[in-house]
Amino acid sequence: MQVKQNYSLLNHNTFAIDVRANVVISYDNEEELKEMARDGFSNYPRPILHIGHGSNLLFMNDFEGTVLLSNITTIEVLREDDTEIVVRAGAGLTMDDFIEHCIGQGWYGLENLSLIPGQVGASAVQNIGAYGVEVCDHIKRVNCVSLTDGKEISFAREECDYAYRHSIFKTPEYRGAYAVVSVEFSLNKRFTPQLAYGGIVKSLQGEGIDINNVSAKQLRDVIIAIRNDKLPDPKVQGNAGSFFMNPIVRKELFKEIQQKYIDVPHYTIDEQHVKIPAAWLIEQCGWKGRSHGKAGVHHKQPLVLVNMGGARGEDIKALAEEIQRDVNARFGIRINAEVNYIY
Ligand SMILES: Cc1cc2nc3c(=O)[nH]c(=O)nc-3n(C[C@H](O)[C@H](O)[C@H](O)COP(=O)(O)OP(=O)(O)OC[C@H]3O[C@@H](n4cnc5c(N)ncnc54)[C@H](O)[C@@H]3O)c2cc1C
Repeated sequence: MQVKQNYSLLNHNTFAIDVRANVVISYDNEEELKEMARDGFSNYPRPILHIGHGSNLLFMNDFEGTVLLSNITTIEVLREDDTEIVVRAGAGLTMDDFIEHCIGQGWYGLENLSLIPGQVGASAVQNIGAYGVEVCDHIKRVNCVSLTDGKEISFAREECDYAYRHSIFKTPEYRGAYAVVSVEFSLNKRFTPQLAYGGIVKSLQGEGIDINNVSAKQLRDVIIAIRNDKLPDPKVQGNAGSFFMNPIVRKELFKEIQQKYIDVPHYTIDEQHVKIPAAWLIEQCGWKGRSHGKAGVHHKQPLVLVNMGGARGEDIKALAEEIQRDVNARFGIRINAEVNYIY
């Protein structure tokens, strides 16, 4: 376990916001975490904030408290049969490394989530998703340690209340109360590619790959290529991926919008609701590629807000609020932040 005082978080958030935390603790195993929690973190300042790679955080100020980082990176096979394998992965493992490992082992299902930044533990908190797959499709259990008393508590998938970019761990009652220590995934032994989304077929064909005979590695490589082409690399330009969630609106409102904008893109959610890409709404409001001081909107993907250099949390927040106001004024739709603001 390592404890650092007055430590810079610059390399621990992909927005590259230059803030410090009073204390940062990186622990190596569950026992270390349990012991600190049982002891009420008595030697450390509160609040306690568990983070992963900081790829979905926006720090508004220096963090006056203790930041926890997990170094638990084990992968264990719990059980398997001819068709399914259940694997437990440590929360501190980089999600993309885990996905690469799974494909190498012939364990399938997570390919479409390739290259999403962050750790395994956070993936279960955030319910990450891309190209028609959500991580909750393959989660069986989320194993946690209570930060109040150090006790183990395990949540079956059905208890996690998963929905689009949502889980029970994001609710006020659970947020900050539990540290995810490992996640159990149910993966398939037989590869069934999910190709329905986001230009995957076109890209595979562009590479000369037969879509009826695609391998998991080929699918992963194509998804990585699409993402690298579309999204800014946080190592080059600070960002946290999609800043806003795609709004789900009532069909009546959608119909009104469609009368004015015939080609509004949308996905039907159910009889009453339609999802509209926030990127389209933002682009219609003229924000694509624009900047405001040290904060900007990416020139290829308007859903991504970027740090133009030296931005503070409040610069990004001010830009986000301006965009929210404009979208609301024009379409009557409130777009909500996917990124977690940390005060
Ligand atoms: C370039 C880019 C592209 C992205 N693309 C996508 C995408 O396609 N789809 C998508 O869904 N997301 C995407 N994201 C967002 C991000 O990758 C995910 O939200 C990811 O799960 C965050 O992981 P992290 O380890 O960085 O978590 P952090 O950002 O550090 O934390 C996220 C939340 O999880 C909590 N948390 C983290 N670890 C733990 C733990 N062990 N126990 C309890 N709570 C914990 C934190 O407190 C925080 O509330 C993208 C981000 C970037 C920068």
